[in-house]
Amino acid sequence: MLYCGLVYIGLTGGIGSGKSTAAKIFMDLGAVVIDADEQARAALGSNSPLLPQIELAFGPGLVVSGELDRQALAAKVFSDDELRVKLESLVHPEVARRVSAIRSSLSDDAVVIYDVPLLVEKRLESQFDAVIVVHSPLELRLERLESRGVSRDDATARMGHQASDVERAALATYEINNDGDLEDLRLQCETVWNAITA
Ligand code: ATP
Repeated sequence: MLYCGLVYIGLTGGIGSGKSTAAKIFMDLGAVVIDADEQARAALGSNSPLLPQIELAFGPGLVVSGELDRQALAAKVFSDDELRVKLESLVHPEVARRVSAIRSSLSDDAVVIYDVPLLVEKRLESQFDAVIVVHSPLELRLERLESRGVSRDDATARMGHQASDVERAALATYEINNDGDLEDLRLQCETVWNAITA
């Protein structure tokens, strides 16, 4: 056994690389998948303990009947880096608390895969037993995103703020090249899964 006790794996890749699709495959193989974006949304969900702090920090009127006005908050932080950092500093500990609670509820033999798009940008690799990076050629990513309704310009702008493939590869324990069909992706995920659980 390569890993001992609960195994905690980070899964990352650029926008449109196929992280969520790979995460679903790992879930089918038996992993407990945690989605960082979903946790961040839940951290700001109905009656979250964070909401009073958000109002305090960003002004009154943002929470109505226990619900955050996400659009109003997004408009406030959109073009203000300082406010964005402030929001992250509130959301991050709440996400960490939620993830820690999920992990504590699991048995020792669980394999947890944490889908975290900005793992490399935020240098989170030391939190994990291993890191899986999903790569996909730029043109394929643009096409896949386009078919999901994201324009090329939007996608390219977002990619410009993300790490490069070389930076991601440097932190990878396992690499998946998602340049084929879904069956090919599934086979690569199986190979990684077998290596993790061997
Ligand atoms: P984001 O960064 O936007 O969250 P992501 O990295 O999680 O994206 P996915 O949502 O998994 O990427 O994939 C992007 C799109 O490409 C989806 O519509 C998905 O169904 C499709 N896709 C991913 N991999 C493949 C593949 N190997 N063959 C065909 N379609 C694929």
